[in-house]
Amino acid sequence: MNRKGDIISEHMDINRVLDNLRKNDMDAVYAENRDHAKKIVREMLNKDALIVTGGSITLEECGITDMINAEGYRIADRADKSAMFSSDFMLSSTNAITEDGILYNVDGASNRVACLCHGPKKVIIVAGINKIVKNFEQAVLRVKHIAAPKNCVRLNRDTPCAYTGKCISDDINKGCSSRDRICCNFVVSAKQREKGRITVIIVNEELGY
Ligand code: SF4
Repeated sequence: MNRKGDIISEHMDINRVLDNLRKNDMDAVYAENRDHAKKIVREMLNKDALIVTGGSITLEECGITDMINAEGYRIADRADKSAMFSSDFMLSSTNAITEDGILYNVDGASNRVACLCHGPKKVIIVAGINKIVKNFEQAVLRVKHIAAPKNCVRLNRDTPCAYTGKCISDDINKGCSSRDRICCNFVVSAKQREKGRITVIIVNEELGY
């Protein structure tokens, strides 16, 4: 057990995760730290590009949110579905990455997972090593025990997990009945048909939740 609860995310072989993401036809890049991640993202973007962001603590902690705001990039309004889906880049983090190279994301409004699946020409995912989990079961638990409760507190959602720190059930098919629930669509990104549309930057730091 690690200090964040039941989720085992330590001692993962990052190179194996990167290789398995590549086997799933995602580009996978290692970043030494948050500044390195920001540099990689900056080099991938071009100034004329239209960018949509997934509202991510990881992007904030890496200084990427400030960078795109300060350096004159065009940012799509998340209320404008047509701009979002026609954007050049989507920047986001992910709720979990399994050792065998899948991304797991759970969303309420679901614009983030919608753009991850379809629309933006290029998706850039920035994730700290704390997002790496052993398998799919651990990914589900990671959301229910860490990501969703913390996001509910951050977003001031009236959900059980915001008060107790974990979901009412560990079963993927069970959860709360709150109108504020943020776990509505559960997306697994496995082998991609469009090779390299998704780039995953794994940062050798704990970032976001
Ligand atoms: S289903 Fe409800 S209680 Fe469970 S993690 Fe999601 S928002 Fe929290």
